[in-house]
Amino acid sequence: MLMDLHIHSHLSPCSRLPLRQILAQARCRGLDGVCLTDHGGRLALGQVREGPQADGLVVLVGHEYATPQGDFLIFGDLEPLPAELNAASLLLAVEGQGGVAVAAHPFRPGRGLDPELGRLGLVRVIEGINGRNPAGSNRQARQWAGQHGLSLVGGSDAHSLAELGGVATFFPYNIASQAELVSALKAGHGQPRRLTLASPPPSLRQDQAGTTAPACL
Ligand SMILES: [Zn+2]
Ligand SMILES: [Zn+2]
Repeated sequence: MLMDLHIHSHLSPCSRLPLRQILAQARCRGLDGVCLTDHGGRLALGQVREGPQADGLVVLVGHEYATPQGDFLIFGDLEPLPAELNAASLLLAVEGQGGVAVAAHPFRPGRGLDPELGRLGLVRVIEGINGRNPAGSNRQARQWAGQHGLSLVGGSDAHSLAELGGVATFFPYNIASQAELVSALKAGHGQPRRLTLASPPPSLRQDQAGTTAPACL
C-alpha cells in the first residue's frame, strides 16, 4: 500500500489544508493511507476516526515533534509526550512507550538532524524523500542512511492540497492501525516513492464495492 506519512492539516498553524479535503482527496491522489502529523500533538484525534474509512482510505494520527537536534514524526498509540524534550530524551520516551520516531527531512538546511543521533544508534528510520526538501537534501539523506544502515520512508510534508500525496511510503502489505505501522517501520519494510498523477492511481480501479473514487481537485 501507499501511505503518505507526513501531512499537516489546518490544525497546524502553518498549514492551509483542511482535514476534510485530505480525507476527500487522498484516494484520488493514489494514496491508500494518510498519517496526519500536525505540529505539536495528535491534534486530529477526536476529529477523525483512526483506521479504514468508508472509501478504504486508512487514516492514522501521529504528530511532528520539533527538537533543537531535529524534527521527528512520532507514531504509535502513545500518551501525550512532555513538551520541549531534547532529541535523545524524546527518542528514548517514544521507544519506552513502544512507538517509533522517524527523523523528518534530516538534511534540510536549517532544520536538519544532529548526525550524532545516527552515530549513537538512536535514529533508525529517516525520510529518504520529503516532498518539501531540495533534491540534494533528499539525496544526502539516502546516502547517509546507506552508510549507517538506516531504513527509509517518504512523505509529502503537505501544507496545501497541491502537495498532498506527491511523496509516499510503499509497504508490501496492508497497514490499518498504529501498531501495524509501528512494526512495519521497525522492521524497515517501507520504501519512499515519488508519486505522479500520470501513473494510474489505485483509486481509478474499481474497488470491491464497485464504486470509483471521485475526480481529483
Ligand atoms: Zn509546518
Ligand atoms: Zn512537517
